[in-house]
Formats: sequence, structure tokens, C-alpha cells
Amino acid sequence: MTKRASIASLIPASQDIYRKIVFEIADGIIGIDDHGIIRLCNPATESIFGWQTGELLDKPLEVLLPERVHGFHQKLVAGFQAGNTEARYMGQRSTTIVGRRLDGTEINLGITILRTSAAGSPMMVAVIRDISDHVRYQNDLKRLAETDSLSGLLNRRAFRANVLQSVNANAAAASSMVIFDLDGFKAVNDRFGHDAGDEVIICFSEILRNSIRGSDIAGRWGGEEFVLFLPNLKSKDAVAVVERIRANFTRFDFNWAGHPTANFTVSAGLAIGTSGYVDFSDMIASADKALYDAKRGGRDQLVSTEMQHEALVS
Ligand code: GH3
Ligand code: MG
Ligand code: MG
Repeated sequence: MTKRASIASLIPASQDIYRKIVFEIADGIIGIDDHGIIRLCNPATESIFGWQTGELLDKPLEVLLPERVHGFHQKLVAGFQAGNTEARYMGQRSTTIVGRRLDGTEINLGITILRTSAAGSPMMVAVIRDISDHVRYQNDLKRLAETDSLSGLLNRRAFRANVLQSVNANAAAASSMVIFDLDGFKAVNDRFGHDAGDEVIICFSEILRNSIRGSDIAGRWGGEEFVLFLPNLKSKDAVAVVERIRANFTRFDFNWAGHPTANFTVSAGLAIGTSGYVDFSDMIASADKALYDAKRGGRDQLVSTEMQHEALVS
């Protein structure tokens, strides 16, 4: 059965206008029977999924989905078939439906599902829109809004949001907060120029990024100050991480034309939360105080502090 014939058999000739709409519309329209077999399919659907005209008819719907979502999708369809809702839109905001094109690439879809019947048999019809560009654009905007453009690290606001999320997901764990502040940075700018200063900031950011676990959260607090949140780490290990970062930075040779090789140092304040939920501002304040002590103590050093008990909220 060709696609044209299939559509024709499902929409009576007297409703020619509907047939035309289904055939011409840019949204995909697809109907599956209660075995999940595709019984209705317009050209837009095949174009969205990269198939040839007529190829999708009588195939199981699963050919349009990545394997990892097959189980989830079957449950979704069963739930919808058993429920009372006549129509439902999926794919907006947090719910993103992922589809798979014939060439294996994945696309984001906005889908409206309708429960209906055709030729006396139950049918689920989905109206499909490829929202991949929209999702990509949204993700780009989100990344831009969260990222400090010089260092590529999270900016202050995004750092805070990420830490709160981590703390909420892991409330009982001990965690530490670190603030780094490059030593004598004003002199770096003065002696080597602002571009060289930027290079130092980028270099430290890279060392920071490359020295941490996936669950650790690093950010640029502002200027030549950086923050690092270490969830679920013993104090001894947190100290080791900070010292490794400091050592890697100090070892790094900066070579600028007309100058001998330059090396720089960084001070750090580490606030160790021993257990339980710790307030973000309290952690930052403790780390900042420790950093102040590190500066006062002569720079190029780490000062650690155990979070005060009253800062812990059970
Ligand atoms: P200390 O050892 O006490 O930390 O001294 P410092 O000179 O590092 O401290 P201070 O906070 O006085 O100086 C920070 C300097 O960092 C001042 C500012 O011009 C410079 N700075 C802030 N942001 C940037 C940036 O994005 N690029 C460059 N090149 N310099 C920056
Ligand atoms: Mg500073
Ligand atoms: Mg400084």
C-alpha cells in the first residue's frame, strides 16, 4: 500500500481537505495501531526522519526511536492508551522526546498525541515537529548565561546554582569549599600587560578544570578569584586536591617575548564541612576568611578551616 493510498483509505474522499492538509503540512503526522505499527504517515514524517516516501508504512514505531527509550516509550503509550486524556503535548521545556533518523542521528521532537480510531480500529495519532534547532538554541543560550567567557568556567551565579543543586541531591555528605586568589596579580598586569594577565587566568582555569572529578564544581568568582566545591570528599583528600592545583600552577612556565620565564603563585582558603547540610553563604564566608589568613600569612599557601558547628544545619 502506498502512502497516498494509505492516507486515502483512512480519510474519506468527502474530506478531501483533510487529506490535503495531512499531505502538505510541514509537521509530521503519524498513526499507529494498537500493536504499535505505523498505519498512517505523511511525507513530512518521512522527511523529518530521513526515510524515503512510503518506507515507513507498516514498520513498528520503534524504528523512529533510539533503542534506549524503547521501554520508556512503550510504557508511555500504554499509559496513554489506558488513560482518559484525549490529547497531550510532549516535548516542551523539560520533556524532550528524542527521535532517531534513519542515518542514526538523534533529533528533538515536540509531539502532540491524540487517541482516536480509524476504520473501526483504535489508533494513536501523533503530530510531530522537529524542535532540534530550538533545543540547540536554548542550550546555547543557557550555556552562555552560565559561563564566564574568559575562563570557560561557571560564572558566580551558575556556580551557586550548581552547588545548591549538588547539596540538595547529596544532603548528608561532607563537602568542602575552596576560594583561590592569584597572588600579586595586579603586578602581573602591570609588568606583562593585560593580555598576559588574561593568559594567566585562562591557564589557572585549565589547571583547575583538569584537576577535579566530574562531581566537583568549579567557577570564576570574579577577577583573579576562583571557587571550587568538593562534595563527598574527606578533608585530607580535599587538601590534597587544592595543593595539587596550587603546585601545578606554580610549576607552570609563562614565556612572554622580552621577558625571562615567569612563574606565579596562588593562595587558597579551604572551608571543610564535616557532615550534614552546609549553607552556601556560610561556606563561602569561611573559605574567604581562610583565604584572608593565607594572604596575611605571606601568600603562596593554603589555609584550611573546619566549618563552625553553628554553620551546620541538620
Ligand atoms: P593579592 O596577592 O593580595 O591577591 O594581590 P593582587 O594584586 O592579586 O590583588 P588585587 O585584588 O588588588 O588585584 C587583582 C587584579 O586583578 C586587579 C585587576 O585589575 C585584575 N583583574 C581582574 N580581572 C581581570 C581580568 O579579567 N584580566 C586581567 N588581565 N586582570 C584582571
Ligand atoms: Mg583578589
Ligand atoms: Mg590576588
